[in-house]
Amino acid sequence: FQYYQKISIPRKLRICGFSSVYLYLLYGTPLYVINVYVIRRRCRDYKEAFCRYYPQSATISYAAKAFLTLDMCRIINEEGLSLDVASAGELYTALWARFPASRIHVHGNCKTPEEIEMALQNRAHRIVVDNERELGLINDMSRRLPAKTPVLLRLAPGIEAPTHDYIKTGHKDTKFGLHLKGGLALQAVKRALTLPHIRLLGFHAHLGSQVFDLRSYQEMTVVIFSWLDKLRRLTGYVAEEINMGGGLGIRYVPADHPPSIRKYARVLCDAVQGESSRLKYPLPRLIVEPGRSIVGEAGTTLYAVHYVKKISNGSVMAIVDGGLSDNPRPALYSARYHLSLANDVRRGPSRRITVAGKHCEADVLFKDARLPEIRPSDILAVSCTGAYHYSMASNYNRYPRPAVASVSNGRARLMVRRESLADIVSHDM
Ligand code: PLP
Repeated sequence: FQYYQKISIPRKLRICGFSSVYLYLLYGTPLYVINVYVIRRRCRDYKEAFCRYYPQSATISYAAKAFLTLDMCRIINEEGLSLDVASAGELYTALWARFPASRIHVHGNCKTPEEIEMALQNRAHRIVVDNERELGLINDMSRRLPAKTPVLLRLAPGIEAPTHDYIKTGHKDTKFGLHLKGGLALQAVKRALTLPHIRLLGFHAHLGSQVFDLRSYQEMTVVIFSWLDKLRRLTGYVAEEINMGGGLGIRYVPADHPPSIRKYARVLCDAVQGESSRLKYPLPRLIVEPGRSIVGEAGTTLYAVHYVKKISNGSVMAIVDGGLSDNPRPALYSARYHLSLANDVRRGPSRRITVAGKHCEADVLFKDARLPEIRPSDILAVSCTGAYHYSMASNYNRYPRPAVASVSNGRARLMVRRESLADIVSHDM
């Protein structure tokens, strides 16, 4: 008994019932693990909340840029959500997965003629038009089609979302969409209404990403509706549809306190309904495009620690087998994360450790993380890596991209296989 008491039996971090060490042994590291249960739960939370607060007509369109694979298309389709794609690659993936084009919204601030053609040929549900020249191009390319092309115009409402500068998209000097101030948006609407092959259904706006303060959504709604009202007075045009983008933030570290999906839905729907009744503006169909808040918290990245070294200030640095190429967010936005020791969650935090990756840059993934004593061959788990990780991964230093494994219902399987060294040279001539 005494003997057994002395042995500490390591407890492994579990993801949807699976031991992270088992997943590591099965698939290797670095490894993205996606908990499908969490994705499905978030999809349902969105549907329930918008059904409750906007029973008139609300559509949830998952923003593919956050994370897209064939299997993810299947999950989103099964959950009955629509899909927002922002490139030919995302559209191709969706079509390959037989995602119904009648639920695909096509975005992009620099759509090439090939991308427009692909959207038109496959009869995408909506094209969200970024600028006036694109509008003319879509009109010309729609000439031979039997019906007008249904479009929304993207607006730049000129609002500073309270988030990192690099993920703001609706501010006053944004590259996205038609600025309300200065008359660009008004001019584009007038043009759209004269184009014979365009059916203007309404408008789109997206403030930015990882937003916690719901007052920005209220502000955006007020700005957009007062512009819609002005537009109605000047042209008689009334929008049938309004797409308010995505952006709801998630909890990367314990200090983050994002609002719930339900609260976000209530605030946004109240704002839209309130403005529409205040201005006696017919209530439009409402669309939202969440990405991060559906898939972000479903992801965990596992890394193996290879080396541990003391650095000059006396602190300790753990070097892991991934980094910048599978997670560019710390370098891009100084993003912070919660880390744990996956192979023994019972070892409590004892010191501040910096975790660095293996790329030829500073590649500091986590500065001064509170972690237990780390040893080579430990496994580190980084939470909340479902969104904008795999989708932003690169081959920097010619490292193959990691595998993506999904776990759900007692089943673990590969969503995306690990790239091989042969893949690395496969496009070279
Ligand atoms: N819609 C548009 C147009 C976007 O640009 C983005 C993200 O950049 C999203 C939706 C999704 O945002 P998030 O992942 O923050 O919900």
